[in-house]
Amino acid sequence: MHILVINCGSSSIKADIRDHFSGRYVAEMEIERIGQPDSLLTLNGESETLEGPLSHGDALGVALPRLLDGLSPDTPIRGVGHRVVHGGEKFSHPVRITDEVEAALDEISSLAPLHNPANLAGIRGARSVLPDVPHVAVFDTAFHATLPRRARSYALPHDITDKAGIRRYGFHGISHAYVAQKAADFLDSDLRDLRLITCHLGNGASLCAVEYGRSIETSMGMTPLEGLVMGTRAGDIDAGVLLHLQRHHGYDTEALDDLLNRKSGLAGLSGRTNDMRDILEQAAEGDEDCRMAIQVFAHRVRKYIGAYAAVMGGADAVVFTAGIGENSAILRHRIAQRLDFMGARLHEDRNREARVNRDNPVERVSTANSRCHLLAIQTDESRAIAEAASKLIMESDRLQDSRSIPVAISARHLHVQQETVEKLFGEGYQLTPRNDLSQPGQWAAEETVKVIGPRNSFPSVRILGPPRNLDQVEISRTDEFFLGIDAPVRASGDIENTPGIILEGPAGRVELKNGVICALRHIHMTPDDADYFGVQDRDIVEVAITGGERDLVFGDVLIRVSPSFALEMHIDTDEGNAANLGRGAEGTLVCTAGRATLTRRRTTYDTVTEAAE
Ligand code: AMP
Repeated sequence: MHILVINCGSSSIKADIRDHFSGRYVAEMEIERIGQPDSLLTLNGESETLEGPLSHGDALGVALPRLLDGLSPDTPIRGVGHRVVHGGEKFSHPVRITDEVEAALDEISSLAPLHNPANLAGIRGARSVLPDVPHVAVFDTAFHATLPRRARSYALPHDITDKAGIRRYGFHGISHAYVAQKAADFLDSDLRDLRLITCHLGNGASLCAVEYGRSIETSMGMTPLEGLVMGTRAGDIDAGVLLHLQRHHGYDTEALDDLLNRKSGLAGLSGRTNDMRDILEQAAEGDEDCRMAIQVFAHRVRKYIGAYAAVMGGADAVVFTAGIGENSAILRHRIAQRLDFMGARLHEDRNREARVNRDNPVERVSTANSRCHLLAIQTDESRAIAEAASKLIMESDRLQDSRSIPVAISARHLHVQQETVEKLFGEGYQLTPRNDLSQPGQWAAEETVKVIGPRNSFPSVRILGPPRNLDQVEISRTDEFFLGIDAPVRASGDIENTPGIILEGPAGRVELKNGVICALRHIHMTPDDADYFGVQDRDIVEVAITGGERDLVFGDVLIRVSPSFALEMHIDTDEGNAANLGRGAEGTLVCTAGRATLTRRRTTYDTVTEAAE
C-alpha cells in the first residue's frame, strides 16, 4: 500500500511516497523557495530550478505529475496524507478530505495564518492532480486533544475566551506521538504504562508531557508561538512586553508579528542566525551572543522538563528529537544537566557518540542506573502521517463491508466466589446453571440474592456462573442512584478502590468490602475477529448503533480479546435505553481511537485532579 505524504510549509513543499507496511521510501521530492522568482525542485536527489514565481498549487501541478510518472505501474498510490498544522476545535482525529472539510479548514486558517493556508493550498493542488484517491488530513494539534482543561485554559475571562475561541491547542503532535511510541517500543514497555517527556527541538520547538499514552501538557499554545526558544520565534514572553512595545515604541500588530515570529528566538538572541549549527560554531569561536542564545535555549527546555516531571509526578524517560534533539550532543548535555533529581543521568560518552538515523532511529544516552531514561530518537512525521492516512483508509474500506457486532444489554448481575456462595446459600452449596450465556462457558444461575445499598435494595439480582476468584457486582448508573452508592466505570476484574455492598441470601449476609462497578462497555472477540477489525486487546473504539429509532455512536468501548470469547458487545441497561435497543440490535465498529488508556492509575488520577479543578 503506497501513500503519498505532502507537507506544505509557508515557502516549501516536501512530498514522499512510502510503502505503508515497511516504511520504505519509494520516491521523494522537495520544492523550496515557493513564491520566489525561481523555485528549487529536488526530485529523488536531482535538483533543478523551476521558473516562477509559483504558488503552492502551481508548484504541485508541475512537480507532482513528474514524481508520479517516475513510479512503476505496480506502485499505485492508495491515498494521500496531508500534514495540517491546526485542526482547531473541530478536528481531533485524522479526517478524510471532502469539499466540506476543505471549507472547514479554510474557516480555521485564522488560527494558524502562517501554516494552514499553505497546507490548504497543498491539499487543493494535490486533489486536482489526484482526484480519484482518498486524501486524508492529519493534524499537528490532534494528539493534544486530550489536554485537560487545566492545561488548555488561559487565565482570561470566559466570555472572551469563549467568544474568540481562545485556548491552548499544542502543535508538533504528530512528532510527539510518534517518538513516544518509539520510546515505548525501545523500552519494551506499553505506552500506557509510561510517563514520557518528549522534546521536539528543531527550528520550531516544543515539549510534551505524555502520560500513559496521552498528551496532558505541551509547551505551544493557541499558536506555535508559546513555549520554548525557537529558530526565529520568541516562545514564552511576558504579554506586558508587547503592551510596552505598542505603547512606547510604535509597534503595531504587523510589526509585533514580524518581531515575535521571524526576528526573535535564536536569531534574535544571537543577532546572526536561526541555525543552531552556526550558533554552536560561533559560540565555540567566542561569540558571546551565540553563547547566550545556547544558554537561554537550554535553560528554557530544562525548565519545562522539570515542570512536566512535576505535572506527572515523575518521568520514565525524556526523549530528544528533531534537528537539534537528534543531532546535538552539546545541547542534550546542556539540557540534561541537573536532571539528577528526577533520576536522569546523562552518559557523556554515549551521548557524544550517539548517531540517530533512518537505520538506527533510537539511542539511549543515559547511564545504566538512570531511573529516568534519556533517549535520542529520530522523528519521522511523514511515516506517522502515512500510517494515520492508511489506517483511516483501511478503516473506511472495512466499514463498507464491515461485519456487524451483536449488541447485548447486561442487566444488573453479580459474579461471586465459591466461598461467598456458601456464605449466602449454605456450606457446600453449588450454583445451578439456568441458561447458557453468549460467552462460551458462562451461564446465568437459578440463584438470585438481595443486594442491599445504603438507601435501597434490589430483592433478586441474578448470579452468573461459574464462580470466580473475586466478588463483583455490576450495576448501571441508575441502579447506583437507587442503591445510594457511587461506583466507578471499570473493566471487569478491576475492583480496587471500588465501593462495597451487602448481599443477602437464604443462609446469611455477606458484606463486600469492595467490588461494585458500573461496567465499562466492551466488546468480546476472538483473535481472528480482532484481526478482521484491525484492533488489539484493550484498544478503545467507537461503535455506531444504527437502524433503530435513535442512532447513536458509543465512544470509549473497550476491546477484550480471547480465544474463548464470542463476538458480542456488552452495554448496560442505561445505555440500552439511551439507544432504545431491543433484542437483536447490532453495532458497527466505526473507528479505533488507539490503545486503551483507561487503566486504574490514570482514571483515579484524572478523577482526583479534575474534581480538584
Ligand atoms: P528541524 O526543524 O527539525 O529540521 O531542525 C533544524 C534545526 O536543527 C536547526 O537549528 C539546525 O541547525 C539544527 N541541527 C541540525 N543538525 C544539527 C547538529 N548536528 N547540531 C546542532 N544543531 C543541528
